[in-house]
Amino acid sequence: MSAADPTRSHGPGGVHPIARLPEEWEAYFEANGERAFRGAQVFRWIHQRGELDPAKMSDLSKAWRVRLSEEGLAPPFELVEVFRSRDGTRKLLLELVDGGRVECVLIPMSKESDEDDESPATSGSSAEPPTDRRRKMTLCISTQLGCAMGCVFCASGQAGLVRGLGAAEIAAQVLEARRHLDDGEVLSNLVYMGMGEPLHHYDETARSIRLLSHGEGAGFGLRRITVSTVGLVPGIRRLGEDFGGKVGLALSLHAPSDDVRQKIIPMNSRFGVRDLVQSLREYPLPRRRRITIEYTLISGVNDQPAHARALANLLRPLSVKINLIPMNVIDASSLAAPSDEGVERFRDLLVQAGYSCFLRRRRGDDVAAACGQLALAERLVRPSASS
Ligand code: SF4
Repeated sequence: MSAADPTRSHGPGGVHPIARLPEEWEAYFEANGERAFRGAQVFRWIHQRGELDPAKMSDLSKAWRVRLSEEGLAPPFELVEVFRSRDGTRKLLLELVDGGRVECVLIPMSKESDEDDESPATSGSSAEPPTDRRRKMTLCISTQLGCAMGCVFCASGQAGLVRGLGAAEIAAQVLEARRHLDDGEVLSNLVYMGMGEPLHHYDETARSIRLLSHGEGAGFGLRRITVSTVGLVPGIRRLGEDFGGKVGLALSLHAPSDDVRQKIIPMNSRFGVRDLVQSLREYPLPRRRRITIEYTLISGVNDQPAHARALANLLRPLSVKINLIPMNVIDASSLAAPSDEGVERFRDLLVQAGYSCFLRRRRGDDVAAACGQLALAERLVRPSASS
């Protein structure tokens, strides 16, 4: 029997073990002459307890433990290194089974990003202090090895796409990251904002959300999960339909008009700014929730007062909050970071126009925590066979 392929959910052996939902586990056990309740048992071992070694699943028979090992229930990557920043950010560098390297980043939540918060979802140990005293952490997840979107200010975009990650590889980032929480910390939110465009790879992204939000597993409420997109309109529509608008949505807009956006985001030639705004209007957002607009400020490109005014007009019909992110300078680009005064001026204009506008500090600069930087610094290793 050959082991399942973690790089995709569905292979010759059916759904990969880490990517199986409880009902799929139940069907698997029933088809193999075992009682269905074993399905929920194994799903809880994997997604609630983070146990990927069948030998440690103490309530299974020895024969089943051996069989699950043979079918590929094993970590889909190896932890290469953990880089810890002075500000508490932790970046995990992971090597996939085919040699590619991706990263996920644990980030302490700021007060502002906590503003829509409810109770935390999942924690690092069972003996923690009360919920309200725990430090909330967000995990930034990667969905692809490299990225096809080619945004000029982004290290991943300059590297190009190698392949998408399977749902097993996406969900296992959460299982791994929980092991790196400090005492008194809780993993509260997930953002699909690491390497890759999650909606370019919709089926695996959606399956990973179903896995991570399942009540028998890690149990993240959908409102604690945010998917960030550069603006793939069909994917935005599917996400809204499949999850009823409950999954948070962040749009990497970065420009108020097509002529500016075209220069920095090649994908804008397929879905222009007006199409994007329309798709956000149609997203079935629950009342009192807001879409996040990400806006990377690049000196002389999109950071002028006229851009701020145009942005304020463009977003008028939407319920949004705006994150301003001064550009991280990357080696592969000649673009420059904006001045502090320019950033302040831009923010003030949006605030005066009535928007909630947050300046995102660059977290983990000392560990290259911006999207894709670490894997690039370590050389993005291409697997021998692409998918
Ligand atoms: S910003 Fe996001 S969508 Fe654009 S190239 Fe980078 S990873 Fe891809």
